[in-house]
Amino acid sequence: MGPYSCAMADPNGRDNDGLRKFNRGRVLGAVRAGRATNRAELRTATGLARSTITGLVGELLAERVLVEVPDAHDSDRRAGRPARRLRVAPRDDLVVAVDLGHSHCRVGVLDSSAQVIHDESAPMDTDSSADQALDHASAVIDRLLTAIGPERSRVVGGAIGLPAPVNPSTGTVGPGNVLPQWVDRHPAAELQRHLGFPVAIENDANLGALAEIAYGAARGLHDVIYVKASTGIGAGLVLGGQLYRGSTGRAGEIGHVPVDPTGPLCRCGNRGCLETVASVTQVLAMMQPPHDQPLTMARVAQLVDADDAGANRVLGDAGRTMGRVLADMVNNLNPEMLVVGGELSLAGAPLLAGVRESIERFAQPGIVRDLRICLGELGERAQLLGAAALALSLP
Ligand SMILES: [Zn+2]
Repeated sequence: MGPYSCAMADPNGRDNDGLRKFNRGRVLGAVRAGRATNRAELRTATGLARSTITGLVGELLAERVLVEVPDAHDSDRRAGRPARRLRVAPRDDLVVAVDLGHSHCRVGVLDSSAQVIHDESAPMDTDSSADQALDHASAVIDRLLTAIGPERSRVVGGAIGLPAPVNPSTGTVGPGNVLPQWVDRHPAAELQRHLGFPVAIENDANLGALAEIAYGAARGLHDVIYVKASTGIGAGLVLGGQLYRGSTGRAGEIGHVPVDPTGPLCRCGNRGCLETVASVTQVLAMMQPPHDQPLTMARVAQLVDADDAGANRVLGDAGRTMGRVLADMVNNLNPEMLVVGGELSLAGAPLLAGVRESIERFAQPGIVRDLRICLGELGERAQLLGAAALALSLP
């Protein structure tokens, strides 16, 4: 469970969490991160009032989300009663995670610590047919659930990630040219009807941010920008410990920030968007001419490891262009960490150096001084793990 509200498939089931759920997430997060083991420490860690802590801890104990166990150190024995400490109850829940990209479909069954029990991945042209992609995902889920046999009864929920804006109020894919075949579809509700357990939906960059905070480079942080640089480019924003989606789910759409007003036409209808100069597609196209075999990002990563001048140049330029856009975002949001993920980050060193160069040049020095800029730790698994984290947070 995490402090993130989620876009539920049921429109009546959302936006009713409010402050209590946020505070409950803070309490749970403090115990999970080891920052508090009793109510007094929770008051210090969260700044919440004693009565609020008492109420929330009582609720979490009653639901067996938290348990109280004897304190191994037990240096605070009073009146013959051993001291006790709070911990998160071990859970044996399983979740289903679906990561749909522009050209792949990954499905996994994961446990409550986000360990993959079974998974399956296949290339898929997600853009051209929503029906085909969802049918494929459903078939793979059925196969994986059959494979785990009786353990299927432990599955408590699922989540699906898409490279498109998702309206947080309705759970539908937003209008526009980014994923036109999916506009106004409600993929989570469709999967939920098929599977019979709650399914949430989230934008893919947002899932990357959740995953890096839960399990990766940004563990435990509260103000993080995560960039998914793949076929498309998008940012996931976690501000004050909460995922920030914007009013219609389009916050962080940095791929469509124009960086060259006379540049090539973008699928969004503008010209010279960041995505038209710094995506995987563009990097591969720019690097291809001197190479005989069709390039892949795996091959580009090998070229970077071999200190290939062309690879360093193209990825450095892509990083600098991306960093110029991110510098404005960093100036506005003052995050603790900027995490660069997605397929492009597989060839990460020159890309990251370019991003860092532009941020140091264009962001405020006082903000840059305290900003950590790093590559994601979870690579291409980030979206699957983020979907698992989201599914595990379902009420
Ligand atoms: Zn665009």
